[in-house]
Amino acid sequence: MRIDLHTHSSVSDGTDAPEALVAEAARAGVDVIALCDHDTFDGLAVAVAAGQRLGVSVLHGIEISAQHHGVSVHLLGYGCRIDDPALADELARIRQGRSGRVPAMLERLSRAGMPVPREVLDRYVGDSPSIGRPHLADAMIELGYVSDRREAFDRYLADGGPIFVGRYATPLGRGLDLVREAGGVAVIAHPWGRVSRDELPASLLGRLAASGRLDGVEVDHQDHDPSTRAELRALASGLGLLTTGSSDYHGAGKKDHDLACNTTAPEVLAEIGARVAARGGLLVGEPPASV
Ligand code: AMP
Ligand code: MN
Ligand code: MN
Ligand code: MN
Repeated sequence: MRIDLHTHSSVSDGTDAPEALVAEAARAGVDVIALCDHDTFDGLAVAVAAGQRLGVSVLHGIEISAQHHGVSVHLLGYGCRIDDPALADELARIRQGRSGRVPAMLERLSRAGMPVPREVLDRYVGDSPSIGRPHLADAMIELGYVSDRREAFDRYLADGGPIFVGRYATPLGRGLDLVREAGGVAVIAHPWGRVSRDELPASLLGRLAASGRLDGVEVDHQDHDPSTRAELRALASGLGLLTTGSSDYHGAGKKDHDLACNTTAPEVLAEIGARVAARGGLLVGEPPASV
């Protein structure tokens, strides 16, 4: 059983449409994926329906843009009720912040001698409601300013980089509460990936675990080297946190993130399912009647 609990579609910053993502999972022999687009549930219904046709179990997930003292933290929510009003309102606020900063970033690109016409950017955004820096990176690649997303981030778009403009992100504690109140299970994505462990220290993870608001941490992730994985796994074990693994697949948008390059143990998924059921969430969606 191969279980990949963190993937993206073109509904956020992945490059595969939801159906194509699920088809790729089927082709690659992946049994279970969670679709965790950034700050939107919009791809779930189509992905779940495609999974039912293709024999892939597609779980309801999301990756929420959160922050702790201004440091970006990505919060995975599994099995949230997607019509929960408080969560929906907060996600809308984040998406507004995503759209709202785009003019300022385009202005910075222009001033840096790399104009990106809005219509070029919009082609990469497509009908995603959750515009992100990777869409800008894709436009910059087309215009010949950079060769891939990584270079775009390393030189220009990364937090604190010359083109970066901040945006609203949910305070971490509030994000944890929103996930829980929507019936979901909360897992911090790649905690010691781009964010160092100084910024998200063991003491903070310990407090969140002790408060009962955090369910787990994503350990097996491409942004964690083997020693980081070992330390995080040991910490999680001591704190009673679940540990997950995933690809953080973005299609062609991220190299070395092939589906199921990291996986989650079936026992961990079973525990996530039990917690979602106990909290009144929904981990596996039903296809809408119209599909
Ligand atoms: P944003 O959603 O606008 O905050 O942009 C963050 C997203 O950019 C993350 O979810 C990643 O998918 C992507 N990202 C961050 N750093 C890199 C990188 N070095 N190469 C490719 N994608 C990246
Ligand atoms: Mn992303
Ligand atoms: Mn992330
Ligand atoms: Mn992700």
